[in-house]
Amino acid sequence: MTDDIFDHEADVLVVGSGGAAFAAAVTAAAEGASVIMFERNDAVGGTTALSGGTAWIPDNPSLRAQGQVDDRDDALRYMCRMSHPQWYCDGHPTFGLPEDSYGLIEAFYDNGSRAVEYLTSVGGLDVVADDAVPDPSRPVDLGYGVTLPEMPDYGAELPEDKVPNGRHCTPGPGAPAIIEQLELAARKHGVEVLLEHRAVRLLQNAERAAVGLELRYRHLTVLARARQAVVFASGGFAHDSELVRRYLPGRVFGSCSTAGARGDFVRIGVEAGALLGNMGNAWWKQVPVEIALQVTLTAGRVDPVG
Ligand SMILES: Cc1cc2nc3c(=O)[nH]c(=O)nc-3n(C[C@H](O)[C@H](O)[C@H](O)COP(=O)(O)OP(=O)(O)OC[C@H]3O[C@@H](n4cnc5c(N)ncnc54)[C@H](O)[C@@H]3O)c2cc1C
Repeated sequence: MTDDIFDHEADVLVVGSGGAAFAAAVTAAAEGASVIMFERNDAVGGTTALSGGTAWIPDNPSLRAQGQVDDRDDALRYMCRMSHPQWYCDGHPTFGLPEDSYGLIEAFYDNGSRAVEYLTSVGGLDVVADDAVPDPSRPVDLGYGVTLPEMPDYGAELPEDKVPNGRHCTPGPGAPAIIEQLELAARKHGVEVLLEHRAVRLLQNAERAAVGLELRYRHLTVLARARQAVVFASGGFAHDSELVRRYLPGRVFGSCSTAGARGDFVRIGVEAGALLGNMGNAWWKQVPVEIALQVTLTAGRVDPVG
């Protein structure tokens, strides 16, 4: 393959434009990489733009500023209990979880707060002024680190939950929604965002390393070359009936996720040799079946069709 067959080229290609994609793109760009984002919908934001926009972050900056200790071992115990009650075993070194599942939970505790602080520092989230050191006497000035003390954790009544309030973070007073903040930061760091570009295949070299993407733009096939990395942050699969039937327990007639949630990466990832995991979990909600059959986007709001 010669370079001139490519329509686009950047250090990092990011698929999707929800919270995960923008966080990856802003981080890569802030660290000096050139970045192109590809979004299959005709607007950015994905399910993130439809969401409540609240991020659950243990040991977050606001908690610390208020002098509240969110102990690692306690928080891990609570997350294991909530996430995998079928495996949970107090006293076991990984609380009964397989190593990889436990490792994910550890990574979340260890990096969640760091990610918020990092994105704040590069302008990706509603930021405190550079010289503003967290001040316990005025926690509402902490921008994204502002917590909602009135919103307790799920399972706050469990004895394992030692910090039932204060882990929910939301944009600060008057701050734009998370996607708007991240999009502004992405533009500031020179990230290019291309809409209506659907990734359909990962391009790999002879060693199976990712080197680019094949995409569809309207009726055209477009090729993009990645000099360093390809990041898939393309959300879920709730609007793909075949994947829903295969992976979700029970009968699911609709979803409030974005219309772009078609599980493209499930197929692309498997083709590239990825293992699948955690496919059967979702945030479940009941809606009248008569409505769900007619309106598969059950949030009831119209978002860009993917
Ligand atoms: C009503 C509602 C309320 C919610 N409230 C909360 C909350 O308060 N707190 C919380 O933590 N979670 C909440 N959630 C869940 C949360 O919004 C999602 O888990 C999260 O936004 C997923 O982010 P993401 O970046 O992984 O995916 P998304 O935001 O869905 O982004 C994925 C993007 O990738 C695009 N895409 C897919 N395939 C391709 C392709 N092949 N090529 C190019 N682009 C592609 C999609 O169109 C989409 O734009 C809520 C969800 C809903 C619907």
